[in-house]
Amino acid sequence: MVKFVLDGVGVELANAFRRIILTEVPTMAITEVLFVENDTVLYDEMIAHRLGLIPLTTDLKNYNLPEECSCGGQGCTLCQAQLMCEVHAENEQKHVYSRDLESLDPKIHPVNENYLIAELGKRTSLVFEAYAQLGRGKDHAKFQPVCSIGYKYFPKVTIDNSKFSSEEEIDEFLLKDHTKLFKKVDGKLTLIKDYWKGPDFTDSIANHAPPGAVTIDFEPNKFVFTVEGTGSLPLKEIFTKAIEIFLEKLDEFEDQLKNVTIEPIISKISMRKL
Ligand SMILES: [Zn+2]
Repeated sequence: MVKFVLDGVGVELANAFRRIILTEVPTMAITEVLFVENDTVLYDEMIAHRLGLIPLTTDLKNYNLPEECSCGGQGCTLCQAQLMCEVHAENEQKHVYSRDLESLDPKIHPVNENYLIAELGKRTSLVFEAYAQLGRGKDHAKFQPVCSIGYKYFPKVTIDNSKFSSEEEIDEFLLKDHTKLFKKVDGKLTLIKDYWKGPDFTDSIANHAPPGAVTIDFEPNKFVFTVEGTGSLPLKEIFTKAIEIFLEKLDEFEDQLKNVTIEPIISKISMRKL
């Protein structure tokens, strides 16, 4: 999980950044499974669904989105990775894990090798071929590169030590402060380093201090982002790709604006009023 500060932008841009990461940054996921043998109690569709939800490491440089590939989305080595699974249980029950998926491309593999896929009874088998492709979160949540992403306004905390009548009053406040974001230095109340990484400030904290001693407000154009990736892509690559996509969208918007004719509706309305 990563926390960082986005400064100097409005809430609309902060939210655009969040939504592009969630819905537009592509990742690899299994989209097709060809079952050869399935003796488990699970239907083929259920296993295929589970396989689709396994986060796979993604190589954005060497794979195309199927709709942008020269094969027209039919599936080729430029837009599709193949993974094989062959597990046979002999005289005892066996579990099939994500580590049993053998990828033909070493760059594409499950992020974690311990995802349980199915259980096999004695003398049963699970054999299949799976195909992974790039996709976007707006088409299916399994392609989202992050588990969670959110932001909050950057807290602006003002401390007026003159409002405390004694050091004991500061000690009393620190005892009631469940956030542990404050500390006492040289007899004065102060904030801890990197306090913005901690839990949220609320007015109830300020209410424990004498009136005016602690004031909590928020910076209007500064945000604290919290992001948790699935492991498909490094977070740095997710952010870089999101900005790249955002700039592409702006260019596209600019191009489309050139072909739009805007009629002077406002002047017509004001004419009517006259
Ligand atoms: Zn292709």
